[in-house]
Amino acid sequence: MNALITGGAGFIGSHLAEAILDARASRVVVLDDLSTGSRANLAALAGRSDFELVEGDVCDQGVVAPLVDRCEVVFHLAAAVGVRLIAECPIHTIKTNVNGTETVLAEAARHGRTVIVASTSEVYGKNNRPPFAEGDDTTLGSTQSMRWSYACSKLTDEFLALAYHQQRDLPVVICRLFNTIGPRQQGRYGMVVPRFIRQALDDAPLEVYGTGRQTRCFCHVADTVRALLLLASCPEAVGQVVNVGSDESVSIRQLAECIVEMTGSRSDIRAISYEQAYGRWIEDMQVRAPDLKKIRALTGYEPTYTLRKTLEAVIAHACGQAATAQQDRSERRP
Ligand code: UDP
Repeated sequence: MNALITGGAGFIGSHLAEAILDARASRVVVLDDLSTGSRANLAALAGRSDFELVEGDVCDQGVVAPLVDRCEVVFHLAAAVGVRLIAECPIHTIKTNVNGTETVLAEAARHGRTVIVASTSEVYGKNNRPPFAEGDDTTLGSTQSMRWSYACSKLTDEFLALAYHQQRDLPVVICRLFNTIGPRQQGRYGMVVPRFIRQALDDAPLEVYGTGRQTRCFCHVADTVRALLLLASCPEAVGQVVNVGSDESVSIRQLAECIVEMTGSRSDIRAISYEQAYGRWIEDMQVRAPDLKKIRALTGYEPTYTLRKTLEAVIAHACGQAATAQQDRSERRP
């Protein structure tokens, strides 16, 4: 099997590429514009004959068409993500997410390929009755709040994918990814766990936005990737929308306390407003938790990492990176 991963140099995509190649049954082609992804994420795969990185734009039909032609399955992960990036670059967000998905779906339909589309729990919007099931109504906010442009663009992707399935018989599975964390995730675009860990390791204040009572469920990227692979080989999942994540819930304040304790940090925990954090008001979700009944029934998937075990892995990776950076600096010193 040949697999194409759009956005494969990103955090989740690079773990997916490694997992597919670990199974040794496939070749992997990654298409990525390296805007938020990086070659460093794929360092472990560089030089392998069963792996190829193509640097290009997922909206460019001339680039996408020959790659889809060469691969039997497409994992479409390329997207603008991260609350900070979305707030600062809404045009880029909408264009990448909608045009990129349309290009991939059209080419997959033309070549008769299977597509796994990565969507997001953000589409549940302001739903405050967890756990969220795939058939629940979406409750997005006003267009005055740019955050919703992301949810809206991903909802459009879901409609497009289902439309291609209905009208063109495209085999497609839509995976609504809840918060995913793990080694190599960056805090630069807003994600809370790498930010808190960096702040804790620097003994800097951990900045909790809003009350800190808002809750999330964080899933280890290895569990997320395993779920994507299970769904890709599940015929009953075709044409379905399926939640992917962990259902262990934690408040952001508790998360901060846990990271301070686990890192042995001297950091304080500081509450700051959304205006202070993002330079503008951002509407935040107070609660977000997946109902995993559907994925369990379809594939038998069960998250295997507890939050604590996941945080241990991310902290260990961050400490390793810090040690390498320190060594590089001392080697460069005359
Ligand atoms: N958050 C925070 N401090 C940060 C970054 C994020 O308190 O440095 C909060 C954010 O407001 C949200 C939660 O942590 O309530 C999760 O944020 P993230 O951007 O990781 O994911 P999402 O909001 O998309 O679930």
